[in-house]
Amino acid sequence: MDDKLILGKKTVAEIDNKTKEEILKLKESNIKLNLCILRIGENPDDLAYERSIIKKNDKLGINTKIKKLDKNIELKDLKKEIKEINDNKNIHGILIFRPLPNHIKEYELKNLIDPKKDIDCFNPLNMAKIIENDDSGFKPCTPEAVIEILKSYDISISGKNIAIVGRSLVVGKPLAMMLLNEDATVCVCHSKTKNIKEICKRADILIAALGKAKYIDNEFIKKDAVVIDVGINLDEDNNLCGDVDFDDIINCVSKITPVPRGVGAVTTSILARNVLKAYYNTINN
Ligand code: NAP
Repeated sequence: MDDKLILGKKTVAEIDNKTKEEILKLKESNIKLNLCILRIGENPDDLAYERSIIKKNDKLGINTKIKKLDKNIELKDLKKEIKEINDNKNIHGILIFRPLPNHIKEYELKNLIDPKKDIDCFNPLNMAKIIENDDSGFKPCTPEAVIEILKSYDISISGKNIAIVGRSLVVGKPLAMMLLNEDATVCVCHSKTKNIKEICKRADILIAALGKAKYIDNEFIKKDAVVIDVGINLDEDNNLCGDVDFDDIINCVSKITPVPRGVGAVTTSILARNVLKAYYNTINN
């Protein structure tokens, strides 16, 4: 079974080695990279993600500044915080944890973030660059992690039939466009898709990003398909699991990412690499 596993740590090592090398070179010129995280409230998922970002950044030599904001912060005050970070030349990357609290709508903020510091592709300008296949912008970290994993395991994308289950703005939609840019033939499924199993069964690569624990079973899988499981859920015993029923499909697939130890492990590496890119954006301004 082990030879079927696609483990995030291989991709992480490849990305982090390059990032660390570049950061060390910058350090020789006394340049220190700074990421600012805006966290509104104390959502446990945000706190867990924050810890993993800090751990990764510490390892790579990136300074992480956390702006803790009250969960009831008014829109005007939040806008002020964003402007201050945009204007601060010593901060290279900005990350705002999402989902935002209910009283603040994403559309009210996303255009405000400096696109050059927008390391997780919140600003629509960066999203538009994905459609244009323009690499100068930032791509959202999770879809980018999926692409990097496929590449680091030499799984070719060009010409492949790929089905994505899920069409959110943070995963499914941008990933579809990014895979199209890599010359795949992409089918995006969602909650209203008819004949979803038949569609998925035609896919050489199936990507599950629907947020439903163990939903994808062997009836969705073409024999010897590659399966990338983006989902992070808790199962009935409170253990971490993906959107894919791993035990049910392991015998049908050629390769599969487990949860944990798969896609999730790569996301913070992409984020750190994006802070480096954001730094280069500031000096190429
Ligand atoms: P989301 O915003 O809730 O979107 C879920 C998508 O799945 C929607 O497009 C929805 O369709 C579709 N969907 C839901 N039930 C479905 C069904 N039964 N059949 C077909 N499609 C269905 O979720 P998300 O933020 O994209 O996250 C998806 C999963 O990835 C979650 O488990 C999340 O925890 C995980 N995640 C992981 C990472 C990571 O770093 N590994 C990062 C982000 C998210 P409609 O559009 O029709 O509603």
